[in-house]
Amino acid sequence: MSADFAVRPSAIQGLGLFALRNFNRGERLLAYAGSVSTVRPAQTSASSPIYALEIRPGLWLDGSGQANISRHANHSCAPNAELVFVDESAGAWLIAQENIPADAEITFDYGFNLAESLFQPCRCGQPDCIGYIIAAPRRASLRRHLRFSRPRD
Ligand SMILES: [Zn+2]
Repeated sequence: MSADFAVRPSAIQGLGLFALRNFNRGERLLAYAGSVSTVRPAQTSASSPIYALEIRPGLWLDGSGQANISRHANHSCAPNAELVFVDESAGAWLIAQENIPADAEITFDYGFNLAESLFQPCRCGQPDCIGYIIAAPRRASLRRHLRFSRPRD
């Protein structure tokens, strides 16, 4: 593993990915190594960690391999990194979305759709956490959904 990162217990969930030095906004952090597929990789159970990400519509990245240190990066509603899929040969990278200080946990937006998000509670702890792992552009529709699905008395 790179000396710039550590994997250790996270307040968000399970293990997290932590920076061991300062990173500047825009800096490449780590490759998100995995196999790319047009078939969505199966998740072993609802409670198992999430390593399968839709990097563009209909294209999935399975990052569950042991060599992929980036798989430990948790989702956050206010992430400090983003996952950028460069191309098939360069693969996907975690890029700093802001200046990241040493010891900060590295988080990114898993980009889930509404259906996926309803089974994936978010514990990121950010003040504006919506409570589910869902892509930022879809949070408004989730808020509407939660409001209308609340039981009426
Ligand atoms: Zn959250």
